[in-house]
Amino acid sequence: MVGTIEFNVAEMLPRTLYTEEHRLFQESLRDFLAKEITPFNEEWEKNKMVSRESWRKLGEAGFLAMQVPAEYGGLGIDDFRYNMIFTEELGHTGCAGPAVGYPLHSDIVLPYILHYGNETVKHKYLPKMVSGEMIGAIALTEPGAGSDLQGMRTFAEDKGDYYLVNGSKTFITNGYLSNVVVVAVKTDPKLGAKGTSMLVIDDTMPGFTKGKPFQKVGLHAQDTCELFFDNVKVPKENLLGQEGKGFGYMMTELAQERLIVAQSAISLAEAYLEATIKYVKERSAFGKKVAEFQNTKYKLAELATEVAMGRVFMDKCVELHNEQKCDSATASMAKYKLTEIQCKVADECVQLHGGYGYMWDFMVARGYADARVQRIYAGTNEIMKELISRKILA
Ligand SMILES: Cc1cc2nc3c(=O)[nH]c(=O)nc-3n(C[C@H](O)[C@H](O)[C@H](O)COP(=O)(O)OP(=O)(O)OC[C@H]3O[C@@H](n4cnc5c(N)ncnc54)[C@H](O)[C@@H]3O)c2cc1C
Repeated sequence: MVGTIEFNVAEMLPRTLYTEEHRLFQESLRDFLAKEITPFNEEWEKNKMVSRESWRKLGEAGFLAMQVPAEYGGLGIDDFRYNMIFTEELGHTGCAGPAVGYPLHSDIVLPYILHYGNETVKHKYLPKMVSGEMIGAIALTEPGAGSDLQGMRTFAEDKGDYYLVNGSKTFITNGYLSNVVVVAVKTDPKLGAKGTSMLVIDDTMPGFTKGKPFQKVGLHAQDTCELFFDNVKVPKENLLGQEGKGFGYMMTELAQERLIVAQSAISLAEAYLEATIKYVKERSAFGKKVAEFQNTKYKLAELATEVAMGRVFMDKCVELHNEQKCDSATASMAKYKLTEIQCKVADECVQLHGGYGYMWDFMVARGYADARVQRIYAGTNEIMKELISRKILA
């Protein structure tokens, strides 16, 4: 029961964000996802990860990291709306595992290499990330440091022409399949935030190992795992930007990460709502359709209103971000509010499905489990409120 969308909730209000070219792209992507992603979601959930083949197919079709310039093997599309359509359409399949992992690679991990990598690093990793031969992950969180990243302990010791890295990271999305990981490390533990740097570590480096994918509440097709670094020799050229500037790079890049999570949240919410509208029109009780009960009509009206408002705010954020005008507080508002809407919609849609809403075969049951983490990762929603309040009170 995934990917059975008919009525288009995303289009409840006329949207001005996309041009005719965007629409054509959206349609071809939708066809691709219906053929290459949705039918495999159930199998991938059992395997706790998507297939490597799916990454290569996305790469071959030109859907990964579209912004990468031609000299590094990409299409050089300097219009973030295309990347956002990618996340939106993945969300509309209702398959949350794929909807999280592929955009993370293209729009969260890869920008660090594109923006801060030297030419050697860019030529080494970007073409293979565009083709889907190399899968990307980002490793900030540690067992003892999540929201408070300054507490991280993974240490990169300067050994002249290389860093010797020791430590571990946890809860890493795409972790098990990852070939290239952007890792936050301490290069000078005495300096706090100013002693933090970003390194690119790849799976050919001895001493880099991975744990098994975690057993999670939701996102079952996502290979979230631990990463271990045991005396890993990382060449100096794999330092991103300058030593000690890692925190600044994270602060710059995290706004886009939050917009990606927000986009997946509102798009998945639209999918749950559409699946539910279809369901209540088909299901009968007490001699009438469930859609005819006043409670159903009012609940759907409430949810549709919140989703429509969320969609308008999201589109505005995409427009601003495309012009490099979406600040951290605005991106945090989108991440906070749209993930809350996603969780509310998932919960109410389960209720409107009755017992079937609790059965894994139904999109809303999966959605109920998948949605919860969106309020936790990419910065918890409490941290989002901190960031929003800083702007309000500045
Ligand atoms: C499925 C999944 C995938 C993930 N993917 C990645 C990934 O790819 N890469 C990565 O690096 N990390 C990833 N994470 C980690 C995620 O970003 C962290 O779990 C998150 O930042 C919270 O950190 P924590 O778990 O240590 O919780 P804690 O920081 O211990 O927070 C516990 C509670 O305290 C609250 N809290 C903490 N500080 C404050 C404060 N200052 N004010 C108010 N409340 C506060 C939090 O909001 C939370 O409610 C993932 C996590 C999950 C579950």
